[in-house]
Amino acid sequence: MPSPNIKLRDVAAAEKWQQILADLVTDPKELLQILDLDPGQLPISERVLKAFPLKVPRPFLSRIEKGNWQDPLLKQILPLNRELLQDTDSCDPDPLQEAEFNPMPGLLHKYQGRILLTVAPHCAVHCRYCFRRHFDYRGNTPDRRAWENVIDYIRQDETISEVIFSGGDPLAAGDRQLIWLTRQLEAIPHLQRLRIHTRTPIMIPQRVNAPLLDWLDSTRFKTIVVVHCNHPAEIDQSVTDSLSMLATVVDTMLNQSVLLKGINDNSKDLSRLSEMLFSSNVLPYYLHLLDPVQGVAHFDVELSRGRQLIREMQEVLPGYLVPKLVREEAGKASKTLIL
Ligand code: SF4
Repeated sequence: MPSPNIKLRDVAAAEKWQQILADLVTDPKELLQILDLDPGQLPISERVLKAFPLKVPRPFLSRIEKGNWQDPLLKQILPLNRELLQDTDSCDPDPLQEAEFNPMPGLLHKYQGRILLTVAPHCAVHCRYCFRRHFDYRGNTPDRRAWENVIDYIRQDETISEVIFSGGDPLAAGDRQLIWLTRQLEAIPHLQRLRIHTRTPIMIPQRVNAPLLDWLDSTRFKTIVVVHCNHPAEIDQSVTDSLSMLATVVDTMLNQSVLLKGINDNSKDLSRLSEMLFSSNVLPYYLHLLDPVQGVAHFDVELSRGRQLIREMQEVLPGYLVPKLVREEAGKASKTLIL
């Protein structure tokens, strides 16, 4: 149970996350002005923004160093014209062929025993490397009736023991929607676990509020929250507090990072990230090689470099703080472990 102090502090933040979500920075000029950078030095075409708009929460900008084009957090959110230059054979709009595993709106059945639900069609941020940047969210936003079809699908397949809330970002959905969906799923006896993949506690830590904690605390499921954090500079005191609060009600807290060129492709930052996450009761889980989706090739780190980084981390960290290096391959029943 969350402590009374945590609950009191959190009540004040209960609605704040929605205000932040409704007031994201979407204009690159405004973004650069806030960060003391000259918009004239970086022309960004309308085509880039139309293909995948800029979206970033205002409070997150305080974690970015002003005047620094090379800031590792800025590079994750800043749209670049080079995203349009990558329509090559190796860059696919759907490299994981998720459309083949999408039998009905809102549901992806890619893995044995697990089902993935696209609970929210949007996120608190647009990460420029996102593997779902071309995903058909419009066709995967079920209404109540369509959710009932999803629940029927799960009810009829007794091999499914785990539901994964994904998106978009599932914690960009409102608490009522999350509670309703969870209660429907709890009535299916063969379901054991609820896993939530989310970047929102990192981008908008105010999202970890009293209703969210109560929801996670009250479910009959074993709960796993996998946060997505790529760089130690993403973790300030507000993130540490939010992750620590989550850890009071969630059974297992894990982190997944994407290995990104020029952002976190050095073992010093990755090791520091593991240490900082562990201080908030989060264990490193995956270090993910980039999915080769169209428009992200400039973030790609070679496999051999990924292996080297893991070796360097093993030299300075205990084994439980070294993430597994993985990549996802279309059609495979699980992530591929890179040894
Ligand atoms: S939070 Fe996740 S799904 Fe959303 S844009 Fe970032 S990587 Fe993509």
